[in-house]
Amino acid sequence: MKIESRLAQIGSVQEPVTGAVNYPIYLATAFRHPRLGQSTGFDYARTKSPTRSVLEQAAAELEEGDAGFATSSGMAALTTVFALFQQGDHLLVSLDLYGGTFRLIEQIMTRFGVTASYVDTNDLDALEESRCSSTKAVLIETPTNPLMMVTDLAKVSAWARKHGLLTIVDNTLLTPFFQRPLALGCDIVVHSATKYLGGHNDVLAGLIVTKGKELSERMGFLHNSYGAVLGPQDSYLLMRGMKTLALRMERHESNALAIANHLLKHPLVSNVYHPGLPEHPGHDVQKAQASGNTGIFSFKVKDAVLVEPILRHLKLIAFAESLGGVESLLTYPTVQTHADIPEEIRLRVGVDDRLLRFSVGIEHVDDLIADLDQAFAQADQETKAKGESPS
Ligand SMILES: *Cc1c(COP(=O)(O)O)cnc(C)c1O
Repeated sequence: MKIESRLAQIGSVQEPVTGAVNYPIYLATAFRHPRLGQSTGFDYARTKSPTRSVLEQAAAELEEGDAGFATSSGMAALTTVFALFQQGDHLLVSLDLYGGTFRLIEQIMTRFGVTASYVDTNDLDALEESRCSSTKAVLIETPTNPLMMVTDLAKVSAWARKHGLLTIVDNTLLTPFFQRPLALGCDIVVHSATKYLGGHNDVLAGLIVTKGKELSERMGFLHNSYGAVLGPQDSYLLMRGMKTLALRMERHESNALAIANHLLKHPLVSNVYHPGLPEHPGHDVQKAQASGNTGIFSFKVKDAVLVEPILRHLKLIAFAESLGGVESLLTYPTVQTHADIPEEIRLRVGVDDRLLRFSVGIEHVDDLIADLDQAFAQADQETKAKGESPS
């Protein structure tokens, strides 16, 4: 079946007693054993819980992996995956990384003796140069956020395999609807399901999907041992969101591309970072390995003085720090998502005080463009009145 059908049907044929078309929420944390030495398959809810299991099975199928694990947040998914490593291990990590992942590695994992080098993961020479005898894995975000750098997953996972390294991909931005890293040779996919998979800014969740029997068993052990699992009500809410993923992603993509093209021509905008634009350096790789584009892109205004008035004058688009929901949100990475990344690293990748990140929602594109245009026009007038305008 096509992915649209599989998404819409998540959990719908798995309740044999009543035939309910949505899988029910099982709140039980303990399950009765038929007799000594027997189990229904469920014993204690941290290990395995019915509603969560349906979600986990769907996640594994969608990502073309062998096992899925639902966690209490995206950070919990990453923490659980990092428990694969031990003192002395080293990781190669995407340069333009999600701020929370950077914080987890630098402020927590380093205390356990696990270190990382931040490199352009699409550059095999750079990867080779940073690799050492203790390197165990490559952690990739593609496209990255906010600068939308693209990594060729088949190329890098083949290189990693040759050197005995695991390839871990944070697939939050594209979701399995557009990109399936495990089918391209990667070993582990993680998600902040809080974003597109949930899709409505109302559930915090994470997912891990693994490929291979041994790795899947190991991850099951870590998931149960750490215990940062997703509760049954949130598991239900996440499945409910995922049923409409295909429709939402198509609209996120078309809206974002139309707005990126509009901003490209705007006199107050100097750069637009969107892999769907032919001039983007990652355009060809992205087109080859993913069937579509995320609804996130970034742009730089000509002068940082414009940022504050633009954010203040937006009416429809919210100034808030998340992404992937049906509502459009504009984020200022320097002070929000990337505040924990040292200025030196931020500037090296290009996250400066002129950069804004747009998570384009599913509203009508004309309304979104009109809102941006009026906010830009008012910001221009205000800065002109103060003699600060770049235009
Ligand atoms: C939000 C996000 C995370 C963290 O997920 P939470 O659900 O907020 O814990 C990790 N990676 C990426 C790419 C994200 O956008």
